[in-house]
Formats: sequence, C-alpha cells, structure tokens
Amino acid sequence: MSVLPFRIGYGEDAHRLEVGRPLVLCGVPVPHAELGAVAHSDGDAALHAVADALLSGLALGDIGQYFPDTAPEWRGLDSRQIVARALELVQARGYAPANVALVVTLDRPKLGPLRAELARTLAELLALPETEVGVSFKTSEGLAPAHVQARATVLLTQVAG
Ligand SMILES: [Zn+2]
Repeated sequence: MSVLPFRIGYGEDAHRLEVGRPLVLCGVPVPHAELGAVAHSDGDAALHAVADALLSGLALGDIGQYFPDTAPEWRGLDSRQIVARALELVQARGYAPANVALVVTLDRPKLGPLRAELARTLAELLALPETEVGVSFKTSEGLAPAHVQARATVLLTQVAG
C-alpha cells in the first residue's frame, strides 16, 4: 500500500482519422465529424487517455494490458467499459478520483459546443461532480488534420485502507 494519500495519474492516446467512421469522445458521438477514428475499439481517445491516467496513478499499467487490441472480444468495444474497469481497479486499492483534467486535440469539427456534454458524461463515468472535470480543446494548427489526440491527468485520493 502506498504511503501517499494522493496520487497523480497521467494518460494520453491518439487515433488516426478516416472518412466513413464515427468519432466518439467521452462516449458522445461527435456530430458533423467528416472523419472518424480508426480503432479496434470505438476509438474514443478521450476515454482511453482517462483510463490510462486512472491506471498510471497507482502504477497499474495501461489499458493495453487489460483490453488487448488483438482480442476479438474487444472489437468495437464501448470505451466506457474500459473506464469503468480502470475505476474499479483504482477503487479496489482504496482510492477514488478527486478531479480530472482532459485535453483533446482535434482540428475539425470545433468541439467547443460539446464541452458541457463531454464534461457531464465524463463526470458521470467517474462519479464526480461536473465542477471537478475540466475539459479543454486544442487544434493541431493543421499539423495533424487526420488525427485525434487526448491527454488526461487525474488526482486520486485515498478513501480507505
Ligand atoms: Zn485509443
């Protein structure tokens, strides 16, 4: 058991984008997306980054160990299940997320109108108040127009043990 009552987790994820695929972020289908994520799962880069942040905060590895992208049973997987599993692992060790900061980098479409919905769905997944979920958006300034990237930090606090 760690001696620290607080742990910081960090995760990041990226997917290539292609025409004719859905784009999903924080479990929310992004409307008017001309490009969608190429992925074994649903390609939700935001939730993959958050799940890795949860796991890394307690040195529990990364989502590739729990949901290998070669496993047929995870094809098209709803990434909310990945976050739920990571959260279970964190809680099993007596910790819970206190706040999370998520940054999504995407050139098009602009995500600003979705900020409240993404924050709300992420807050629900992590059982946090919306005030503890920060969601920021960046573009690549045209450097990676067929690319979605997400980065997340999470503060875990000890709640038991
Ligand atoms: Zn991913």
